Amino acid sequence: MNASTHAVTNQPEPLVGHDVFAADHALTEGVARHLPEGLRDSVREELSGLGRAAGSAQAQEWGVQADRNPPRLLTHDRYGHRIDEVEFHPAWHRLLAKGVGAGLTAAWTREHGHLRRAAGFLVWTQVEAGHGCPLSMTHAAVPALRTDPALAAAWEPKLTSLVYDQGLRPVAQKAGALFGMGMTEKQGGSDVRANTTRAEALAEEGTYALTGHKWFCSAPMSDAFLVLAQAPGGLTCFLVPRVLEDGTRNPFAIQRLKDKLGNRSNASGEVEFAGTWARRVGEEGRGVRTIIEMVSATRLDCVTGSAALMRQAVVQAVHHTSYRSAFGGVLIEKPLMRNVLADLAVESEAATTLALRLAAAYDAAYGEGDERERAFLRLALPVAKYWVTKRCTPLVAEALECLGGNGYVEESGMPRLLRESPLNSLWEGAGNVQALDVLRVLQREPAAFDAFLREVGRARGADHRLDAAIKALLTELADLSGIEARARRLVERMAVVLQGSLLVRFAPSYVEEAYCASRLGGDWGTSFGTLPHTLDLAAVVDRARPVH
Ligand SMILES: Cc1cc2nc3c(=O)[nH]c(=O)nc-3n(C[C@H](O)[C@H](O)[C@H](O)COP(=O)(O)OP(=O)(O)OC[C@H]3O[C@@H](n4cnc5c(N)ncnc54)[C@H](O)[C@@H]3O)c2cc1C
Repeated sequence: MNASTHAVTNQPEPLVGHDVFAADHALTEGVARHLPEGLRDSVREELSGLGRAAGSAQAQEWGVQADRNPPRLLTHDRYGHRIDEVEFHPAWHRLLAKGVGAGLTAAWTREHGHLRRAAGFLVWTQVEAGHGCPLSMTHAAVPALRTDPALAAAWEPKLTSLVYDQGLRPVAQKAGALFGMGMTEKQGGSDVRANTTRAEALAEEGTYALTGHKWFCSAPMSDAFLVLAQAPGGLTCFLVPRVLEDGTRNPFAIQRLKDKLGNRSNASGEVEFAGTWARRVGEEGRGVRTIIEMVSATRLDCVTGSAALMRQAVVQAVHHTSYRSAFGGVLIEKPLMRNVLADLAVESEAATTLALRLAAAYDAAYGEGDERERAFLRLALPVAKYWVTKRCTPLVAEALECLGGNGYVEESGMPRLLRESPLNSLWEGAGNVQALDVLRVLQREPAAFDAFLREVGRARGADHRLDAAIKALLTELADLSGIEARARRLVERMAVVLQGSLLVRFAPSYVEEAYCASRLGGDWGTSFGTLPHTLDLAAVVDRARPVH
């Protein structure tokens, strides 16, 4: 290359060496808001450590390597024995070790553990989202296991350990363990009642042999899985370990790994059970009720994970446009680009603020036994899962465009974010399933709606557009005719009212104003970048900068 013909100008500096946590005002303020004063400094330090690691060139390289070198299925050893193992790139193991070490599976055993974990998850999965899947499932299995004290005693300390102990061995020999889940079958995913995997009781009380399959089983290298299967008493939840106590392998044939749109660092397998040993968790016939605790915790991670993707997309867009000039000026200062960035930043802040509110509700509900917060979660969680995950793909696509042609190129990292972005809306119940869940709660659990209204009502009187939106929501709910076909619209309304009420109370006035004028006030187009021009858009963008 000849320097005289090829001077590189007008390209951004690499964004490395920053603190992903400390620069994120919506996140730092949200964490402080939900913590008692005495914990704030130590948690800020803990998350800043993780934030600096996430901003390092080393971690970013791990993220790229893990994504570029997808896992490989090893069905047999050299002698022809089935082993059903998955080989990962070393970068995957480093990412997981860091995540486990940072307590991202340890929420249940730490003070304000859910809030700290959600913030950590939001920071660390910005590096690479795929390894968030085993972190999520391991964390989420704990409440389901707690329904059986003996199982919890054996497994919980390993799941909540800060040690990533790779490799298949009996759980007693491991310093840390990972968990997955197997619900989805070929003939039915959302409708798990269609599951055909059979469970036949063995001589020892509570143990069964499973025969059947799972069409999706992510992180199949995990140490154990919560699995749904049909027992004589109906659909039941089981713990299926990969290795039995005596060190022999439990039959668990990984047929193949899925070739997926995104989430490529993570392995998602199709598995077969043939006389596979399983231990019942909870009662026969109560499988959904038992596993729902796990599903609920992973749904929160769908919200937090989407907030992480959105934040990373906004960070990249703001960073790029801060360095790039066109038509005689820096892009970030062009009024129309500023509008796009501000609109993206507001959406990202609303997602982060809601994710943290839900995590705090988890701490109150599960840590302190707060029934109101539990009721609030019952409704707010599917509302947020529906809306925040749905907003993710359009936001990431628009952020990609802010980088121009560079954004379409792998090296920018934006295509990876875009490929990942629809997934949180799909798994743990796709959009319609969440919307229908909201309807079910509205119709059957009045305490949940009361708790929801109490939460949004806390901001009543502070913004006339929010007040009007709450009124419109109540009007819509007064007539339930055709409600199933209207469910998405209803859930959207609930979500923006909830996000609006949080921003009105907690965000700076320019962010709150931008949210209410557009999402609640009706002065908004259908694409990002259509905020009213009279708002303080520069302040909104400035708040979203990755480095201050
Ligand atoms: C990468 C990846 C990893 C996964 N990992 C796992 C895993 O580890 N373990 C596991 O158990 N599963 C896993 N899944 C499966 C995932 O949870 C399911 O794909 C998801 O829940 C949807 O189920 P389904 O694919 O059977 O779709 P279906 O149930 O067939 O649904 C198809 C569509 O119909 C909609 N729909 C369903 N019912 C209704 C209704 N009554 N009214 C209107 N619309 C409706 C849904 O919202 C969806 O849009 C994974 C999926 C992916 C993509």
